[in-house]
Amino acid sequence: MSVAQRNYTPALYKGNWEVVIGMEVHAQVISQSKLFSGASTTFGAEPNSQVSFVDAAFPGMLPVINTFCVDQAIKTGLGLNAEINLWSRFDRKNYFYPDLPSGYQISQFYNPIIGPGWINVRLDEAKVFGLRINHIHLEQDAGKSFHDQHPHKSYIDLNRAGVALMEIVTEPDMRSKEEASAFLRILRTTLRYLGTCDGNMEEGSLRSDVNVSVRRPDETLGTRVEVKNINSSRFVEQAIEFEVSRQIDLIENGKKVIQETRLFNSSSGETKSMRSKEDAQDYRYMPDPDLPPLILSAERVESIRRTLPELPDKKLTWLQEDYGLSYYDAALITSECGNAAYYEECLAVEARKSGNKVSNEKAKMLANWFTGDLFAYLNKAGLDLGASKISPAYLVELVDLVCDDSISGKIAKDVFDIVWSGGESPVAVVERQGMRQITDSAAIEAAISKVIDQNQDKAQEYRNGKDKLFGFFVGQVMKETGGKANPNMVNDILKKKLSVDS
Ligand code: ADP
Ligand code: MG
Repeated sequence: MSVAQRNYTPALYKGNWEVVIGMEVHAQVISQSKLFSGASTTFGAEPNSQVSFVDAAFPGMLPVINTFCVDQAIKTGLGLNAEINLWSRFDRKNYFYPDLPSGYQISQFYNPIIGPGWINVRLDEAKVFGLRINHIHLEQDAGKSFHDQHPHKSYIDLNRAGVALMEIVTEPDMRSKEEASAFLRILRTTLRYLGTCDGNMEEGSLRSDVNVSVRRPDETLGTRVEVKNINSSRFVEQAIEFEVSRQIDLIENGKKVIQETRLFNSSSGETKSMRSKEDAQDYRYMPDPDLPPLILSAERVESIRRTLPELPDKKLTWLQEDYGLSYYDAALITSECGNAAYYEECLAVEARKSGNKVSNEKAKMLANWFTGDLFAYLNKAGLDLGASKISPAYLVELVDLVCDDSISGKIAKDVFDIVWSGGESPVAVVERQGMRQITDSAAIEAAISKVIDQNQDKAQEYRNGKDKLFGFFVGQVMKETGGKANPNMVNDILKKKLSVDS
């Protein structure tokens, strides 16, 4: 894959304002222990039960880098087509906050581990743009304060203190709220494919700072406002919407946008000033004297590169090009790595069975059963794909039964339902319940004769020109055969039989 050129012109706001957005995304690294201590990172544990002396900043404690977290950052960098810096370093970002016991956060300011990269962002089938990543750095998360548990006291939970975060900083390449949320979606999907961040927004595993400015096209960049710590794509869109109209109003009324940090209030949908540039903190960044520079070998990077999974954008392309899937189906299937794995397993099973590449027609049927029927059943039951009794092998078996005319599409729905609840294979269900389609013309003819006999009057009306009655006869024959007669044969034979007087 290569970086996409923007292939469309984003709409201007209120006729002549261009919106400019850059994001800083904090992604919690998947790892068992914290960035500089052995304490567990499991979410939801008893408060302060996962805190080492390092996390609590006891005097004399020394941080030790968790090499697994470093590997995860490298993997993320490679997945985002970025340069991996073989020499990087950790810096202390000094500030006082109750949930930061050491009085500084260990971060990477001067020399981040990951340099420039890019990711392609698709809005729909027709619109794509390449978004540049400025850099990614590793840093510690802070603890969590609770101010709403007691009338006079605040509480602190340090379980999260010291957990590894990757801060992914983009260039200001986004031009609308839709582009910003599309970026967040593909970033989340990519991180989940890579297995470096679970993307769980409710648990705060992915939090975004959104930088927004407006300008007239061709002007230099406008003054930006940073909206901090937004934890859902819907809120990202709302915050941008609010900021854009606030900033345009200011400028159109002869005022100036001031550079500041604002907070988003999710109940009002508004942003509120938190601090301006003038009172911006001086973090007094300095290299952390407790940690040596982080030096990587090229071999380590290469061996991680070999473990990279195929990423969604690439899968999306070949599912459309090699199997003729619609963009919609391919996008749905690749939106979660678990879905893609399931569907690819269906293709693999089918290819093994037939000894050939799966036809586009079959690939499409598999996609329909998967994203239509199976998704609907899973949604209704509130289950994950992993809990489904319908394995890829079963789905292939079901589709094959339809394709070789063993059962009709309609009967297949019944079979699906039985397999879903019982876990028996589709073939077993069809045999046990005698659901195989009737393709024996004598049997179908017999059923048709019986139906015509019982409905002589209607048969006569049909012959007199009431064509609509044909559907009635088809229905009756299907009823007579328990829905099992081959529909095409019923049509053909019925036409012949009805046209002659019996
Ligand atoms: P800082 O480190 O002070 O937050 P940076 O220059 O690193 O400042 O920018 C942080 C984020 O702001 C980046 O995501 C960048 O893309 C974005 N950004 C910078 N300038 C603008 C602008 N004029 N409008 C919108 N976003 C911007
Ligand atoms: Mg910033």
